[in-house]
Amino acid sequence: MSVTKEDVGKFLDENPVFAKVYYDKKLKAGAIAAVMNRPESTVDFATFKELSQVEEAEILFNLIHDMQENVNMEKVVFKVLRRISFLIHADRCSLFMYRQRNGIAELATRLFNVHSSAELEDCLVPPDSEIVFPLDIGVVGHVAHTKKTVNVKDVSEDSHFSPFVDELTEYTTKNILATPIMNGKEVVAVIMAINKTDGPFFTPEDQDLFLKYLSFATLNLKIYHLSYLHSCETRRGQQLLLWSANKVFEELTDIERQFHKALYTVRAYLNCDRYSVGLLDMTKEKEFFDVWPVLMGEQAPYKGPVTPDGREINFYKVIDYILHGKEEIKVIPTPPADHWALSSGLPTYVAETGFICNIMNAASEDMFNFQKEPLDSSGWTIKNVLSLPIVNKKEEIVGVATFYNRKDGKPFDDQDEQLMESLTQFLGWSALNTDTYDKMNKLENRKDIAQDMVLYHVKCRNDEIQDILKTKEYYGCEPAECEEDELFQILKKELPGPTKFEIYEFHFSDFDCTELDLVKCGIQMYYEVGVVKKFQIPQEVLVRFMYSVSKGYRKITYHNWRHGFNVGQTMFTLLTTGQLKQYYTDLEVMAMITSGFLHDIDHRGTNNLYQVKSQNPLAKLHGSSILERHHLEFGKFLLADESLNIYQNLNRRQVEHVMHLMDIAIIATDLALYFKKRTMFQKIVDLSETYEERKKWVDFMALETTRKEIVMAMMMTACDLSAITKPWEVQSKVALSVAAEFWEQGDLERTVLNQQPIPMMDRYKAAELPKLQCGFIDFVCTFVYKEFSRFHKEIQPMYDGILNNKKEWKAKQDEYEAKLKAIEEANKAKEEAAAAKQTANNASSTGSGSKTCCVS
Ligand SMILES: [Zn+2]
Repeated sequence: MSVTKEDVGKFLDENPVFAKVYYDKKLKAGAIAAVMNRPESTVDFATFKELSQVEEAEILFNLIHDMQENVNMEKVVFKVLRRISFLIHADRCSLFMYRQRNGIAELATRLFNVHSSAELEDCLVPPDSEIVFPLDIGVVGHVAHTKKTVNVKDVSEDSHFSPFVDELTEYTTKNILATPIMNGKEVVAVIMAINKTDGPFFTPEDQDLFLKYLSFATLNLKIYHLSYLHSCETRRGQQLLLWSANKVFEELTDIERQFHKALYTVRAYLNCDRYSVGLLDMTKEKEFFDVWPVLMGEQAPYKGPVTPDGREINFYKVIDYILHGKEEIKVIPTPPADHWALSSGLPTYVAETGFICNIMNAASEDMFNFQKEPLDSSGWTIKNVLSLPIVNKKEEIVGVATFYNRKDGKPFDDQDEQLMESLTQFLGWSALNTDTYDKMNKLENRKDIAQDMVLYHVKCRNDEIQDILKTKEYYGCEPAECEEDELFQILKKELPGPTKFEIYEFHFSDFDCTELDLVKCGIQMYYEVGVVKKFQIPQEVLVRFMYSVSKGYRKITYHNWRHGFNVGQTMFTLLTTGQLKQYYTDLEVMAMITSGFLHDIDHRGTNNLYQVKSQNPLAKLHGSSILERHHLEFGKFLLADESLNIYQNLNRRQVEHVMHLMDIAIIATDLALYFKKRTMFQKIVDLSETYEERKKWVDFMALETTRKEIVMAMMMTACDLSAITKPWEVQSKVALSVAAEFWEQGDLERTVLNQQPIPMMDRYKAAELPKLQCGFIDFVCTFVYKEFSRFHKEIQPMYDGILNNKKEWKAKQDEYEAKLKAIEEANKAKEEAAAAKQTANNASSTGSGSKTCCVS
């Protein structure tokens, strides 16, 4: 479909809420600057809080990149200063290098008058035009002397201020913010910002920002100071390693890649043999399907070490950098606890406490007892160790960096500790600021997805609502101008009622319904379970919501609105006819039916694996259950619009509960999770059989939050797969449309991804469909309906349905196999005949002599 600019404009006009959210949060800094047609540096990002974070992250990555390209101290510091002058509104910033000449300390200008739009060439001071300060003159000298940051609010009142540079440059200094850059106890340089442009002086916040940004410059200046600059020869070595690192890159996620880049960059400054970085799992809250086994008492709760902020310590990946001998980088995904890099327990200890640990003589420490022989073929052993936490901006420990064996054989000292600490800090809050980075990544991808949502203009239009809520026809006015009761009178006439389309039946089929009929049936169900009145759902909102849900489904072969509706209908039938409603409150019933209708909204006709393989932005946004998480978000995106929000008259606690259930219900439709909940569900059914009285069991269950959630999750699966239980005429047709959609994905894999699809998605193996269906029924589906019919005998029709379909598919499979066998036999007979003929021919030709050549 093609969408014009007008369409997008119209959509945004009609959806101010969406537009606001979109522009407030979902655009990148650069994009806004572009929209405003201004250079990025003149856009005031203070008004776009999250954006400035994103932009900050980009700047940090640029700086890392510069460091990677070459260790050009001036260039890096220049960029930092330019950024600082913009952020704190300083008229100009300068860098003064500290040095000693003939035993006398002095400061010399290196970068002068850096402002937010300055160019490096204009600010870099060549040696012959340096301005040199002795330490006893001026504020800069004072800062170098006292080694303390100063914020001079008014220079005329500061005794240290000297006007000699002002006189030299015809400039008037009013206020100054200056700080020394230290390496250990030594001053390396002084950085100064002068004249606040939007206020009388620099504020304490300016000072914080100033110092925060300077940690970059600090690192670079320290490195510069330590003269860890490398000769051309090692740089060639670096390039070689960079190239080999590319292979490693492929194994890393985006975030890890940034991290790796940063570490790789600084590796030249590390005075050690080898180092390893353990990356910590950042998830704080576990997924419901991992929490259930603990809640159900099937798994002991985690009692191991945790980080200071309460996360389980789980190193999900170790990156091992070997710098001795042949340089190499190794990535160890999900390392075992006895991996040499973890087995001392030191990284875990550091992650737990946040301490810096410096171990002088590993051989004498018990924790390194595991080291009975060299750790690699080169004979390498751990002699001394320095282990540090990597901390992000939020002070969370995101990983542990461990450095082994100082190059000169001596133990690591406080100089190393300091350097390593600033490195890890730098890593922590730049590359490993996963939060910001994640956000940046997600913003990018979200932008694409949001655009999709706009393009798909799903919202029910005013003319469309008249298809159902015919207020114009009945009363000659818009729905908003009608009383709830008037709307109810229309719906009473327009909705199909409970019996017309057999919505209470397990054998319901949508074949005789139009898509609009299905929307009406959906609305009808909310009335049937009595939630419209009880939760005061405005009827116009209910109609608009159901209509929009139907439009939110794409017109694809299988995962279209018809499938969405069928899942909602089966949920409704399981609850009512299947009697499962007795365990749940009306609020929960409403959440479950709504989840059914929403569960596949905006499906693209391809599965999760395809999203990953085709690098769809969705795959970058969600780590697992990619599509399911998108359906959920899309559903919530609709509900966020007041005109569609059927939950608008619930209180906060109710909304939270409904949303929580929707989270579980929709994610649970990921079949990959099905096997995780299977036994837990079976145990609940077993338990139910131990109760003689239904009433007692229902009373027990009503209070069992986790068990209710597990049953609900399994109900979602039962609904999603319910086509397999329908009468054969229905099942055989639906199975074909499922297969057709798979084949379409297979075609895409072949043409777009250049890959051979699996048999299920290969249209050239269409004849194997009956066999695939039988396998699917046996290994996945039967369990669900067998257990549900054991749980509630009212659900028996579904189990009978699947048994019948199994018989039908098996017959087709047998038929196909018989045909194959016949063909095979015919071929065999033909071959045998041909072979017999060949033998006969050969026999008759034996006389004509040998086939071997004779060389005479
Ligand atoms: Zn589905």
